Amino acid sequence: MSQCTFPCPIIAGERENMARLRAHLIEGNQCLDAWLSLSRLVTDVRQRRDCLERAAVLAPDNEELQVAYLEAVLLVEPDNKAALSRLNEIRTLRLLSDVKTTHFHEQPRARLLGDILVSIGAISPAELRDVLKNQHNGTPITTDRRLGQLLLRQGLITPSKLAHALIIQQQERSRLRIAPQVLGEYLVDQNYITPQQLELALAEQLRLDQKGQRYSLGQILVRLNMISQTLIERAAKEHEQAFWAKYGY
Ligand SMILES: [Zn+2]
Repeated sequence: MSQCTFPCPIIAGERENMARLRAHLIEGNQCLDAWLSLSRLVTDVRQRRDCLERAAVLAPDNEELQVAYLEAVLLVEPDNKAALSRLNEIRTLRLLSDVKTTHFHEQPRARLLGDILVSIGAISPAELRDVLKNQHNGTPITTDRRLGQLLLRQGLITPSKLAHALIIQQQERSRLRIAPQVLGEYLVDQNYITPQQLELALAEQLRLDQKGQRYSLGQILVRLNMISQTLIERAAKEHEQAFWAKYGY
């Protein structure tokens, strides 16, 4: 018996040939490639399960394969409790590691808004320190959003400066492949609008906000004819789905 490499050079070009795959396996080759290829060719669910079982034994650390095997088992025996609980266990572990990677190990990070505002000369480092020291209702300023609001309210920056800094931050995030978090980032990421359009829309949103007029980003984009009502609704729905998909919903 010999262990083949993966992919297996002996069956290259013959992965659709069931007789050839079987012959290769009957010769005693421990061939992951052949078992996987065979599992795709067989139509009977039991045969498929058996092929995947052999493949799973040859690659015990391949989680995708373990999942495929367990799913095949459940097709044959829907009440197989052991398979079901093993499958749930793998899925839960995966879900946890996904959440962990996106939320606890977000490295490298995009710069904070305050740092960007300083780097573009919108405020001085001393002004940033003062504002950050400032406590609002006894709560320290912890979010970029609140920092932006406070700077605007104190007249330290203009809406367009803030919008510019937010765009720079968005571009850094997308370069660092940090998943889009807000609708605006998503729209740029998916090429619905350009970063320049987002910058204009954000500036407009902030300007109106200062006058006490609250509009969503979508409403502003439509008002400015940057996107149609139909398209923004579709994009918002997609964004919501993409957002929840990270949590396995
Ligand atoms: Zn082989």
